[in-house]
Amino acid sequence: MSVYIPVSLRNQIREFDRNRCRYCQRRETLSGIPMTFDHIHPLSKGGVTSFENVCLACRACNEFKGDCVTAQDLFIQEIVPLFNPRTQKWHDHFSWGDDGTRVEGKTSVGRVTVFTLQMNNQVIVTARRR
Ligand SMILES: [Zn+2]
Repeated sequence: MSVYIPVSLRNQIREFDRNRCRYCQRRETLSGIPMTFDHIHPLSKGGVTSFENVCLACRACNEFKGDCVTAQDLFIQEIVPLFNPRTQKWHDHFSWGDDGTRVEGKTSVGRVTVFTLQMNNQVIVTARRR
């Protein structure tokens, strides 16, 4: 769904998020593909267009996330929330694998987010390797 986001809010988000995907950390300048604005809590589930609920996301993360807000962590067999870039810190939930090409979930939140957003799909891992 495409929704109007005021220019001033877009600029505030771009500056705060430093033009990188708040989920997989992909930089717009390296991918050459414009970032999207992700409603962390989707509009379809009552989310609003505000700084607290919108972040930059690469097209892949945004599309794989869709309107998901939770997912099942297969490791602990529980439904847990996806990572919230506005209320949680990336390094608390994710780390980079030894070769720097794969994002690893450190927590349940990290694991379900990596899995749901397919943050280690072959295309992105190959791009990170380059
Ligand atoms: Zn991403």
